[in-house]
Amino acid sequence: MNIKRERMDYDLVIVGAGPSGLSAAINFKKLCKKNNKEFSVCVVEKGSEVGAHILSGAILQPTALDELFEDWRNSEDCPANKVPVKKESLKYLTSNKSYSIPNIFIPSAMHNKGNFIISLGSLCKWMAGEAEKLGVEIYPGFAATEAIIDNNTLKGIVTGDLGISKEGTPTENHQPGIEIHGKFTLFAEGCRGNIGKNLIKKFDLGKNSQHQTYGIGLKELWEVKEKNSNPGEIFHTIGWPLDNETYGGSFLYHLNKNLISVGFVIGLDYKNPYLSPYEEFQRFKTHPKVKEIFEGGRRISYGARALNEGGLQSLPYLSFPGGALLGCDAGTLNTPKIKGTHTAMKSGIIAGDEVFENLSKDSSNVELLNFNTKFLESWAGKELKEARNVRPSFKYGLKIGMLLTGIDQIIFRGKAPWTIKHAEPDHESLKNKNESKKINYPKHDGILTFDRLTNVSFSSTYHEENQPCHLKIIDKNLPISNNYELYDSPEQRYCPAGVYEIHNENNIPKLQINSQNCIHCKTCDIKDPKQNIMWVAPEGGGGPNYTNM
Ligand SMILES: Cc1cc2nc3c(=O)[nH]c(=O)nc-3n(C[C@H](O)[C@H](O)[C@H](O)COP(=O)(O)OP(=O)(O)OC[C@H]3O[C@@H](n4cnc5c(N)ncnc54)[C@H](O)[C@@H]3O)c2cc1C
Ligand code: SF4
Repeated sequence: MNIKRERMDYDLVIVGAGPSGLSAAINFKKLCKKNNKEFSVCVVEKGSEVGAHILSGAILQPTALDELFEDWRNSEDCPANKVPVKKESLKYLTSNKSYSIPNIFIPSAMHNKGNFIISLGSLCKWMAGEAEKLGVEIYPGFAATEAIIDNNTLKGIVTGDLGISKEGTPTENHQPGIEIHGKFTLFAEGCRGNIGKNLIKKFDLGKNSQHQTYGIGLKELWEVKEKNSNPGEIFHTIGWPLDNETYGGSFLYHLNKNLISVGFVIGLDYKNPYLSPYEEFQRFKTHPKVKEIFEGGRRISYGARALNEGGLQSLPYLSFPGGALLGCDAGTLNTPKIKGTHTAMKSGIIAGDEVFENLSKDSSNVELLNFNTKFLESWAGKELKEARNVRPSFKYGLKIGMLLTGIDQIIFRGKAPWTIKHAEPDHESLKNKNESKKINYPKHDGILTFDRLTNVSFSSTYHEENQPCHLKIIDKNLPISNNYELYDSPEQRYCPAGVYEIHNENNIPKLQINSQNCIHCKTCDIKDPKQNIMWVAPEGGGGPNYTNM
């Protein structure tokens, strides 16, 4: 199809209105104001509104927010200052007991004194308002689907076409996507960004780093009885229901208004194809010390999202001609802290500085040449360096992982003279179904534990039905000849929204894809054993509509 597109031009284009993209836009515009410069910036966001696709724990380490806003701690409107962390614990669970791990065995970097319990979606909404006050143009409902590259330099992006039918033909609602050109374009799509992933390949940004590794995080928001609410209290758990060789654990954060954010993160290097991250999360809530918190309460929201776990070893080079990768699009999350918001924001702040400096000098540089070094030399880069050995230590299992982490973090304080490498990429970690034990998960009771489809309805997910499937199967034979035959179709279990189903028609197995339920977590793009599923952005505005996640 030969499509005529409108063109818009900006000095700076940002893809993604998460914490990293918004921090870049805000810092850039503040610098313009301070120096009396009139540079333009626009942010495109695939969610129907800012925050609609944001899912996080979340505990905020406020280091970067302090740099971006002087007065956020005293602001009535800023949602981040309402619930400081008051009490915290890390517990080891067995199937019916819970043991608190003494503080001296918990690395100081993992303590949360001075941090805040927040909804990251709400913080992003507030930041978007502040950005607009400074003159940033934000376009929710617009997904970037392609990078415009000319002469090996990034020139901007194309937003997705609207009104294309399932068969790929224009419908009566057809509206071609727009070309948005920028002198610089920053990619802030979050973990496993679909354009960022291609740019890493195209510009060979990963040539000096290891592959990225990931986890999947699932979360529910609950309203509980007042007697079970203790705003400011947080706990994390390790151990049950996971076995020794599976990396992961839970988080439970008491917000105000009797709300509790509860979730579970599992490393996507898990080995048993019968494992279901969703069911492990549901089972976790049935632990005697956990379920009592939810008695008489109600689940009000559900969602899931992949997160980067590779840290410093997996960080690609951050810039290329015409643009840069920010935050979790690059992989700046600090894994032992399970925190990536502050480091993502810091990468955005530094990128904002660098774009401003380059544009002000009117230099002929098409690349932000200092960005990578400045990030690595900042407090955020130093944090990632000190945290680097924790995640790969767990490739030896939970017990050895904890021992190595103690040595690395408590004795060497992150300054050990070695760097541990990650094991194989997540899509290569599954064992064959014949070597794996089937897992019988408990039935859901519909009160504390829920089936996936009921829970997905609590993510308010919506996609226009008549559009091409955004989950592209590259080789149509592999779902059966490889995934079904070798692993009993693990996509049926790792997808937190039940998008993939195997149906037997006349005893012939066939993969069915319910793409309208997709909550954009990106797990299938990461974990498919042959990298045969490609997630591409559906029509802008489609996907989950999270509130306060
Ligand atoms: C379960 C879970 C718990 C977590 N807990 C914590 C915590 O307690 N503390 C903490 O600090 N961090 C936590 N994190 C990590 C934290 O959420 C991330 O590090 C942070 O959100 C990264 O910010 P970002 O701006 O890089 O990306 P994101 O927050 O993912 O934002 C990316 C934005 O870009 C948009 N986008 C993506 N692709 C496109 C496209 N092609 N076109 C247009 N828009 C696009 C998305 O819709 C989204 O709004 C957690 C993550 C998870 C999943
Ligand atoms: S289809 Fe893929 S991206 Fe969508 S919810 Fe399932 S695993 Fe996540």
